[in-house]
Amino acid sequence: MNIHAIQTGTVAIKQSQRDGGDRSRRNLLRVMADSRWTEPLPIYAWLIEHPEGLIVIDTGETARIAEAGYFPRWHPYFRFGLREWIVPEQEIGPQLHALGFSPDNVRWVVLTHFHTDHAGGLGHFPTSEILATGADYAHSRGLGGSMRGFLPQHWPEGFAPTLIEHQDGPFESFVQSTALTRAGDVRLIPTPGHTPGHMSVVLQEGDHVIVFAGDASYAEQNMVDGVADGISPSITAARDSLTRLQRLADARPTVYLPSHDPHSAARLAARQTVSGS
Ligand SMILES: [Zn+2]
Repeated sequence: MNIHAIQTGTVAIKQSQRDGGDRSRRNLLRVMADSRWTEPLPIYAWLIEHPEGLIVIDTGETARIAEAGYFPRWHPYFRFGLREWIVPEQEIGPQLHALGFSPDNVRWVVLTHFHTDHAGGLGHFPTSEILATGADYAHSRGLGGSMRGFLPQHWPEGFAPTLIEHQDGPFESFVQSTALTRAGDVRLIPTPGHTPGHMSVVLQEGDHVIVFAGDASYAEQNMVDGVADGISPSITAARDSLTRLQRLADARPTVYLPSHDPHSAARLAARQTVSGS
């Protein structure tokens, strides 16, 4: 199946956000006070040319972040915790056109979660069905969502995603999942932790599976090591998700693709599985 890695700019975060480290709960202040930035990391979205329709996973960032006031000045994370770089041609809409596709022909857009670098390109998909978990939609919308660092004020007018509750039975190490395609080869799996309703997408392709992991971990190695990031509201949930991903990679050859792993695109191109899987 043709699958495209679409890089919508880059992001730098604090090393303690990416690598979390040994901690019992999140400490956002510690992350923001950390003086060590990561190198600029890719912001990946994904396009699957599925026979049942085009599937986009996450929508990347928008170049509107350069506009004054796009990020609320009162929220410290945007001043002290995040740096991003993107120009308009790098947004997902223009990149889909460059690949020969129209965003209007995308059947499903799956949001792993609502952080700005995953939901920033939502405006490119006015006719697609947007899929998000009910848990993350509730967590990210309104004043509460704004306080938690989401930008619901920039969601498209009349935004009404299809809310996923994972009721289609188990998949491998995951006790619940959602079948997206009629063929059953694309499933949504709950990987909470980074956000309460974070989900990943699994594509079964031949003898292996491809996991589009969103921010379940920032890098493959963090999943292999079971290291949760530094901002997950629930480190218990994050570690449980990483354990389930490890068990999946033990059970099936697994190509594991986090949104911000600099090696994700090359691993996709080579269908390189988690070592040992
Ligand atoms: Zn995120």
